[in-house]
Amino acid sequence: MAVMPLILVCGALALAGLLALAFTVLSCVWLYRDSRLHGQPPALWVLLAVFAGPIIALLLYFIFGRKQPLEPCESCGSPLTRADRFCSACGAANSRYGEPAPKAKLGALGKAAVACGLVSVVCMAGLLAGMFVFAFSAGSTPLVTTEGAAIVASLPIESAMDVNSGWVIMSTQGHRNGVWTFSMSKTSDGYHKSGRFSLDDPTGRILAVDVTCEGETLELDFIQNGETVRTETISGADGVQYFSLADLAPGEVKLRVVNHGATDISGRIWVE
Ligand SMILES: [Zn+2]
Repeated sequence: MAVMPLILVCGALALAGLLALAFTVLSCVWLYRDSRLHGQPPALWVLLAVFAGPIIALLLYFIFGRKQPLEPCESCGSPLTRADRFCSACGAANSRYGEPAPKAKLGALGKAAVACGLVSVVCMAGLLAGMFVFAFSAGSTPLVTTEGAAIVASLPIESAMDVNSGWVIMSTQGHRNGVWTFSMSKTSDGYHKSGRFSLDDPTGRILAVDVTCEGETLELDFIQNGETVRTETISGADGVQYFSLADLAPGEVKLRVVNHGATDISGRIWVE
C-alpha cells in the first residue's frame, strides 16, 4: 500500500534532479555564449553557475553582466556598446550612441533553460506538498479495532523500559493517541514488549486488547511494583477482549506482552 506513494516520490525526485541538472548545463552553455557576446569573461560566469548555482549566476549576470549589450560597429564590425561614442578600433562615430539598449532576447537555449528551471521548481514544490499531505494523512488516520470500530483511549499508555535477550523479526511499536500499537513477525521464545500507564480508578477503568496472531500463545503480564499481579492469554480471540483492572492498586501499571511461539502478531492495547 505504501509502495505507490514511494514510487511517486522517487519518480518526482529523479525527474526534479534530472531537470535541475539539465537547467544547470543549459544555463552554463547559454551563459558562456551570451557573456562572450557581451564582452564578459565567459569562464568566470560558467564557474559561478557551477559553484554558486545557476539561479544565482543568472541573476547576477542579468543585474551586472548584461547591462551593455554589444553591437557591431557599422564601419568595422568591432563590438560596441551604446555607451561608446566612438569605435575604439576604427574611430568611427557610433550612430547608436546614447540610445536605450535593445531589450535582451532569450534564445532557444535560454528559453529551454528557463523552462527546465521552472519545471524543476514546480516538481520540487509538488514533492514537498505531497510529502506534507502524506505525513498529515498518515498522522490523522483514525485508530480502529480489527472490527473497524474507532478506538478511544481514556488513559494514555506510554513506552516503558524493556530489555530483551532474544531476537525479533520485523518489529514495530508506537504510542498514538494513548493507544499502544505493536507488531512482530517472528520472535524468540519469551520475547516481550512493554508499555505503562498510571491507573487512577481500578474499578472504573478497563483494559482493551485487540490482537491478531498465528501459532501459539501470546501472554499479557500486569506488573505493579516489579511484581507480576496477573497473567492473561491474549492470543486466540476474535476481536476486542476486555480485562478488569479491579485487582490492581491505583498507580503505575506496567503491561508486558510476552510471546511463546506466536507469529505475525499485530496488536492494539488501550485503557477505556
Ligand atoms: Zn569600428
